[in-house]
Amino acid sequence: MAGDNAKKLLTQDIVRAALRRVRRWQDDPSKPADCPLCEAPGLQIADHSTRPYSEWYLVTCPHCGLDDRIQVPSAARNP
Ligand SMILES: [Zn+2]
Repeated sequence: MAGDNAKKLLTQDIVRAALRRVRRWQDDPSKPADCPLCEAPGLQIADHSTRPYSEWYLVTCPHCGLDDRIQVPSAARNP
């Protein structure tokens, strides 16, 4: 594991880019997502949502060490 060297999604722009990739992955999980930081293929996405109360995803990239979570505000969800 990346541990203390884990990279984070530091800006809102990067969080939004990562969320777009999560959405694409949800549409077609057979297509691997690219890392929003280093653009390497093989972004790992884990859905930890407890619907309908919260929606969040753990995203990790074995290439650059990205290890962060994306929390989706409930107002941003599409029914
Ligand atoms: Zn990466």
